[in-house]
Amino acid sequence: MKKISFIVVFVVVLISCNKVETLNHQQLKQPKNIILLIGDGMGVTQIYAAMSVSASPLTFEKFKHVGFHKTYSATDYITDSGAAGTALSTGIKTCNQCIAVDSTGKPFKTILEYAEDNQLATGLVSTSSILHATPATFIAHEQRRYDYENIALDFLDVDIDVFIGGGKKQFVDREDKLNLIDSLRKNQYHVIDGIENLDVNEEGKFAVFTAEEHNPEILNGRGDMLPVSTEKAIKILSKNKKGFFLMVEGSMIDWGGHDNDIDYVIAETLDFDKAVAKALEFAIEDGETLVIVTADHETGGLTIVGGDINNQTIEAKFSTDHHTPVMVPVFAFGPGAEEFGGIYENTDVFKKMMDAFGFEK
Ligand code: MG
Ligand code: ZN
Repeated sequence: MKKISFIVVFVVVLISCNKVETLNHQQLKQPKNIILLIGDGMGVTQIYAAMSVSASPLTFEKFKHVGFHKTYSATDYITDSGAAGTALSTGIKTCNQCIAVDSTGKPFKTILEYAEDNQLATGLVSTSSILHATPATFIAHEQRRYDYENIALDFLDVDIDVFIGGGKKQFVDREDKLNLIDSLRKNQYHVIDGIENLDVNEEGKFAVFTAEEHNPEILNGRGDMLPVSTEKAIKILSKNKKGFFLMVEGSMIDWGGHDNDIDYVIAETLDFDKAVAKALEFAIEDGETLVIVTADHETGGLTIVGGDINNQTIEAKFSTDHHTPVMVPVFAFGPGAEEFGGIYENTDVFKKMMDAFGFEK
């Protein structure tokens, strides 16, 4: 009799433990926060080149969920960063050069704008000008990606909580003579020059300019701007109890590819990996954050034709100074990360983020 009641109690305890575990697992499927990190022009070879020359393992190697997306645009087999960014930010394939609009100029709402509408905190960080194609596709709606002055105006239409990058020039030195720094201040922003002057303990919204146009290359004195900006943006955004969306771009992996300069590509990829590490550290600690790392496209048709893994050397070759159409990798960690395995369209990255947040279109 005693034995039987012991078994009954044991089974009941087991079942209830199981229930609790299933419940926790379900709760954790939906992230509170998403950090999307985009290495512009970063294909598999760019990552493996950086892994090969690094004395220690890169953060990329810590991700258990890996997939690929197809990058072609609505108009071109080989995309540009406008169409590619728009696919990631809005879930539509559009014309090259287009910034979160379709070929007729019709605007499409971005994941950052959906996050705003759902009372989440939002942020953008970039090593280039914050007005450059990739960050612009998350906040602006323009048919021409180089229309920086209008892209700057679009920043005033969205209540973004923090943005950090270059591009101050188009906010102050404009053909229409408007001073958008004054407009930002009127919209309650702290306008700050230099990431070192950003005090994350202050309350409010932050426009942080780190350069007049683009920041320097990492090999030319950018220092730890990208990982520090990522860490500071996370500190600001994570104050919002409802959650946040943050996009971080390593812009210049692409530029090294256009230059066919392997040292440039590797240095920018290693720096980007440091930003990924900041996001992952936060996500591991936090437990409610989905981290997605991907590229918009590959640049340079990079391949490795020789080297020595023990001496951390590689011999690299580029096959073009333009973009290529190859699939690019996606790495995911956190609640919902398993959804990012497999091969899918670049537009599915947006859809998966919408599903993860539980947003309705
Ligand atoms: Mg870019
Ligand atoms: Zn490019």
